[in-house]
Amino acid sequence: MQHRLIWFRDDLRITDNAAVVAAFDCGPQVRISAVFLSADHEWESFGYGANRLYYTEQLLRNLSVQLSQNGISLQVIRLNNYLDQVVWLTTFCQIEGVTDLYFNQEYQLNERIRDHSLTDQIYPSRVHSFVDRVLLQPGGVMTADNRFYSVFSPFKKRWLSRIQDGQHYMPFHMNKIERPVIPRLDWQPLCLAPESDLSEFETTEAGALGALEQFTEKKLAQYDDKRNSPAQNGTSRLSAYLARGLISPRQCIAATESQLNRPLWDLPDGAFSWINELIWRDFYQHLLIGFPKLSKSKAFRPETEALKWRNVPDEIEAWRAGQTGIPIVDAGIRELKTKGWMHNRVRMIVAQFFTKNLLCDWRIGEAYFMRYLVDSDLGANNGGWQWSASTGTDAAPYFRVFNPVSQSEAHDPEGSYLTRYIPELASLPSKKRHAPWLTCLPKNYPAPIVDLKSSRQRAIDAFKNLKS
Ligand code: FAD
Repeated sequence: MQHRLIWFRDDLRITDNAAVVAAFDCGPQVRISAVFLSADHEWESFGYGANRLYYTEQLLRNLSVQLSQNGISLQVIRLNNYLDQVVWLTTFCQIEGVTDLYFNQEYQLNERIRDHSLTDQIYPSRVHSFVDRVLLQPGGVMTADNRFYSVFSPFKKRWLSRIQDGQHYMPFHMNKIERPVIPRLDWQPLCLAPESDLSEFETTEAGALGALEQFTEKKLAQYDDKRNSPAQNGTSRLSAYLARGLISPRQCIAATESQLNRPLWDLPDGAFSWINELIWRDFYQHLLIGFPKLSKSKAFRPETEALKWRNVPDEIEAWRAGQTGIPIVDAGIRELKTKGWMHNRVRMIVAQFFTKNLLCDWRIGEAYFMRYLVDSDLGANNGGWQWSASTGTDAAPYFRVFNPVSQSEAHDPEGSYLTRYIPELASLPSKKRHAPWLTCLPKNYPAPIVDLKSSRQRAIDAFKNLKS
């Protein structure tokens, strides 16, 4: 009798899950089981925080119930590291007579090393791995001389031409097997409590798909106009679902195409600007494969490794506490800590302030985001930080340093995002909230820890002096 084992990772859904759909493509005589393996110590070393782990735990509980309705029981096994996972899987496959193992590919370096080592130990033709996390397979979007792209625009052009050539990007359809079993919920939880209030995040596949539908129906048309405004709920807020795999990027494309009744390459500019973000998402996963040093905390631009970061402890602490005295930066950090999420425009402002005005090492900021973000993802987080720090691929040029005050005035003109997270500023007229030290600093809000003009110049000088 065939026994198929589905190994879940950051793909905690059953609909349009490439590995699940393939495993379910069988007759009733085939036995299917499912497992999720933690790697507690290894994940701790990657800086995964309580928010991510607690959220994953909620998703696992719902997935277990959902799988049980399809006749499958999910085992969740707590292990320390990836080596333990390989040992556990090879042993389990032997003892339980697993004939085929199904999982979706992950692109970070340690995960890839683990998967290679597993495939070496289990008869390779019995290991079935799938492209699921991204829309197009990393390694399938290459330059004319077969190198990985390191600049987004040509990558996007090639990516779109691959899609138009008929590369698969539509959701997979699955055979449902309906012979319910009792769900197993008896494992030791990954995490007992989050650090932030995660109540706004959906924890079921149906909930996340509902959020996608709401977004494409009600907000997609205004996305381009509202995406940079943190006070308005103008972006999709689907990142946690995409990061943990509660929905797939294919489902995002399908929902967009169906809403507008046009294929991806023929969408109006406004809707395409949303798809553009999903292409950025793919780009950063492709980079992880093309440039393994990104998984080892190395700068993409080697010359920037020589930068003399200041890393002043008091300044780092003020930034972490949301007490820098620069409202848009403090509001962003406070949003991160209270909600486990931060608006994209504000992520860029906060990260540039940290790496340019404070001249602090981007790795420190990256780790802090990793600790709190419920959507934390090595590719996107590292990409975002190295972009902001001007150390990465296709990064912001070092001399174009955001002015956080003008950014705040442009993207939150009423200062309502600011007061949502900094009630100390609520007594000020809206126009005065962006730079309160210039007029009347409220008693319980700090003065800026750094002068924006001179610190900007200091950063430019530090970069200018690097040998390329
Ligand atoms: P939307 O604007 O609705 O975009 C749709 C989807 O596209 C998002 O859900 C996300 O999956 C993807 N996406 C959007 N922007 C980007 C981007 N710049 N890079 C890669 N994917 C993108 N995103 C993460 O998912 N995880 C992270 O750990 C992460 N860390 C970041 C750190 C920094 C310093 C910066 C500047 C950006 C980071 N981002 C990260 C990217 C981006 O900020 C979030 O994906 C976005 O804010 C999520 O909100 P949304 O779902 O409403 O996005």
